[in-house]
Amino acid sequence: MDKTFSKEIDRELARLGVSPETAGPKELYTAVSQAAMELLMPRWKEKAAGKRACYFSAEFLLGRVVSANLLNLGLLEEWNDWLRQHHLHPDVLEEIEDDALGNGGLGRLAACFLDSAATQGVPLDGYGIRYRYGLFRQKIENGFQREYPDDWLRFGDPWSVRREEESVVISFRDQQVRAVPYDMPVIGYGEKGVVNTLRLWQAEPVEELDLTAFNNQDYDAAYRNRNRAEALSAVLYPNDDTQEGKRLRLKQQYFFSSASLQSILRGYITRRGEDFTHLPEDVAIQLNDTHPTVSIPELLRLLMEEHLLSFEEAFPLVQGVFAYTNHTIMAEALEKWDVELLLSVIPQVYPYIVLLHNRLRRELRDRGITGKEAEPYFILDGTRVHMARMAIYATHSTNGVARIHTDILKERALKEWYALWPERFSNKTNGITQRRWLALCNPELSALITDEIGDGWLTDLDQLEQLVPVLEDGAVVARFQQVKEEKKRQLRDYVAKREGFELREDFLFDVQIKRLHEYKRQLLNAFAILDTYWGLKEGRITGFQPTAYLFGAKAAPGYYRAKGIIKYIGEVARLINSDPEMKDLMQVLFVQNYDVSYAEKLIPSADVSEQISTAGTEASGTSNMKFMLNGAVTLGTLDGANIEIVEQAGAENNYIFGATVEQIQDPGRTDTPEHLCEAQPRLRRVVESLVDGTFDDGGTGMFRELYDSLMKGASWHKPDQYDLLLDFQSYCDARLRANRDYQDRGEFAHKCLVNVAHAGPFSSDRTILQYAKEIWGL
Ligand SMILES: *Cc1c(COP(=O)(O)O)cnc(C)c1O
Repeated sequence: MDKTFSKEIDRELARLGVSPETAGPKELYTAVSQAAMELLMPRWKEKAAGKRACYFSAEFLLGRVVSANLLNLGLLEEWNDWLRQHHLHPDVLEEIEDDALGNGGLGRLAACFLDSAATQGVPLDGYGIRYRYGLFRQKIENGFQREYPDDWLRFGDPWSVRREEESVVISFRDQQVRAVPYDMPVIGYGEKGVVNTLRLWQAEPVEELDLTAFNNQDYDAAYRNRNRAEALSAVLYPNDDTQEGKRLRLKQQYFFSSASLQSILRGYITRRGEDFTHLPEDVAIQLNDTHPTVSIPELLRLLMEEHLLSFEEAFPLVQGVFAYTNHTIMAEALEKWDVELLLSVIPQVYPYIVLLHNRLRRELRDRGITGKEAEPYFILDGTRVHMARMAIYATHSTNGVARIHTDILKERALKEWYALWPERFSNKTNGITQRRWLALCNPELSALITDEIGDGWLTDLDQLEQLVPVLEDGAVVARFQQVKEEKKRQLRDYVAKREGFELREDFLFDVQIKRLHEYKRQLLNAFAILDTYWGLKEGRITGFQPTAYLFGAKAAPGYYRAKGIIKYIGEVARLINSDPEMKDLMQVLFVQNYDVSYAEKLIPSADVSEQISTAGTEASGTSNMKFMLNGAVTLGTLDGANIEIVEQAGAENNYIFGATVEQIQDPGRTDTPEHLCEAQPRLRRVVESLVDGTFDDGGTGMFRELYDSLMKGASWHKPDQYDLLLDFQSYCDARLRANRDYQDRGEFAHKCLVNVAHAGPFSSDRTILQYAKEIWGL
């Protein structure tokens, strides 16, 4: 092998003044990253001529980038050789923080898309914010979540290049800031691979220091501007579904939208001059949810104010450039901005929103839509701006992220829009990159697959279909079982270190990992665990396959009820883990600080993937796909991409339960929480555990509040909004079926492998090629 890379690592270490023997994780990280950057720099500078797509996203949840980059560069083996040669542990880089500049699925999707585009040779660049602190680090103390700042730059940022000369100025009513881009290479894997760019903007003061104030010895004043500027990109909002710190959040959205547009226009003018008619031939911009939607009036403003186009010239260009992805139908997550707030932050944008609103009204009038009938379309409703409406109206494409989600958009949530512009709507079912979610996180299963069908699956996941005939070979199934056992042992060791908990690697692993939210129903899982516990104690359940129930989830810091659920799971865990009779039957563990790197450990070890959202609430989900690819069966509802997963892998190889979206949303429903509890004593008993003294919420009243939310509701929503009680019985039945089936390990492993073999359609390579062809015209 050509040892240029190893030599480069040695040189970088020497430059840092250390040797391989004396280097700590930080030095090793810096050296290996810089060595790789040296090697890839020539490729990064190559830019193919032609149209480029831009992915605007407030979040990029990259996880640890170093190993993924080395894998994609084809340098991972040489790095591992280098470590072995110096007697260093292959896990030395595990201390390096994740890049956690995102909350959950939406941010992780953005990261998977970048990887897939670079790998498939699609010219796609990411644009977002370089938050100083990413999503908080979570600890569980006395069963309660505590948040700590995520100092992700602690180990430096060797993969970014600061591009001072490409800075732009962003104006707000009360301040101006400088947006400085930090560019990261996005490295494609394999032969078609290219190097794209993720450009993250950092807010800085226009002037370093107010020297006059400084000279007057008013140091506070001297630094005030700097602090106010830096506050803009200081923190990621830990909410993906409610609006907090509204003013600052709006500033962040405008900040990265305007900066990205200015930089894109600058590039266009360099190539084409001031004739903007070719803009949609050169640039496509995908809006990842409504967070960057202020880009729409901002591009109008830039074209009209700075480049003197008329509205009727600028509008079709804007519409041709932008496309919008909808990620949720939950009312509270559909962003609406108060006009007053908007005027106090970015008044310059408002007139362009008015222009859009009026143009829409004219179009509606021309189609005979007036009065009440026109209202569901209004971008401005008097006091607020409806961002999703603006996004649908002023773009040429609106897409949902799984088939059921897109159908709900067309038939319910956005039916008025679909009626007028059906051709704008399409579905793009989400996906995940198999490079991170199989090759990197599960080299053992990857080796099995590659031994059977070759390594073409790394860039063409549909090749997994070739496993189908192979699965009838008992030796392959047995090898899969050994892989699963090995991944469980690895997780056991990791969990022992991180949590001080002794996981039983001989148990069935049942895993629910995702953000904590009522609609995702972690509480339903906890109820079913408690019911199983009582069933075992009473002898109602026999022949039970010992199970470890694993949870990982962060709750938004202001989401009181979600925090109550964490505490409740902790109480259930305490009861069960401390009961000697359960020693060889059940374990419950809530792991701390669930993030991408933890997901990479948990998913390959899982037997059962918990995907139990209320039908009609989870737009797609992507952890469901990660589990499938790593050989777990889905225990889930007919929601999001679960539907497409069982369609591919067969209902007989998964465990589907619960009410369908039609049943959930049936206006003729008569069931009430009280009736359901009346008819089902076991359900009554688990629900009552919230308030009957079984558990202790530390005097916070959290459990009473949870109880009331289920049984009484609140003024703004019905009781048991997410229908835990309705689905309880069928959930218990389905998970017991899975438990019984686990008795026959060979048969169960076969089901798992059938899932792997049919995971091809859930590669984000497939998704990104659909965006490229059907939306971006690449
Ligand atoms: C994949 C992923 C998610 C999304 O999980 P869902 O279960 O689909 O909501 C969230 N967080 C992390 C860290 C992930 O890797």
